[in-house]
Amino acid sequence: MDIQALRAFEDNYIWLLRAGRRIVVVDPGDEAPVLGYLAKEDASLAAILLTHHHGDHTGGVAGLLARHAVPVYGPACEPIAGITIPLREGDTVALPGFQDHFRVIDVPGHTRGHIAYCSQDSLFCGDTLFGCGCGRLFEGTAAQMWASLCKLAALPADTRVYCAHEYTQSNVRFALAVEPGNAALQSRAARVAQLRGRLQPTVPFTLAEELETNPFLRGAQPEVAASAERHCGARLSGAAEVFAVLREWKNNFR
Ligand SMILES: [Zn+2]
Repeated sequence: MDIQALRAFEDNYIWLLRAGRRIVVVDPGDEAPVLGYLAKEDASLAAILLTHHHGDHTGGVAGLLARHAVPVYGPACEPIAGITIPLREGDTVALPGFQDHFRVIDVPGHTRGHIAYCSQDSLFCGDTLFGCGCGRLFEGTAAQMWASLCKLAALPADTRVYCAHEYTQSNVRFALAVEPGNAALQSRAARVAQLRGRLQPTVPFTLAEELETNPFLRGAQPEVAASAERHCGARLSGAAEVFAVLREWKNNFR
């Protein structure tokens, strides 16, 4: 499966899966870049996959459906017009013409009904896990998001993560404030700065890299827990509590 990024808005990625001339798009917030790609490549749209209801992930659905009558897969528990195949955890998505199958994982937190799509080696996680960060808690609780991130962290370490925003560089700044002594994080910061200096994407990245550098997955590490405790001025018991403090801290971090 060939996977390419289409840019949209300031920092969104619309992921495009390609098998021959068949194209599947993930979270098309805008139809224009997708329609442009289809015309340029003389390719045909086969399906749309959605992770959650926010407009920068769904805004292009109606415009695509007006020209291509394709199935729309998306979360069963979110109010999204146009979904023809509602999905819940445990469901499998088999796309005609594509070898890879996708397993659906419920990942509430950023929104209440957010889902992720996981193939053998790729994860499309919308606004749940970001490069060195995680999504804001718009609808869910910290406990829900923590549980969702733990599910993703348990996937094979070589899984390639395709998140929906290019946020890595600012996330790395926060991560360094939390865990300045993390050597893997320092070298990631240098790599990310180099990529962004050339306006190149930092996505996809591997779960292995996240496990080594993403503070939101590292609440059990002593340096991360100590930073969170210093920040909130209280003793914390366990990685879930550390996560909740980090999420709050990041909201106000500049
Ligand atoms: Zn969102």
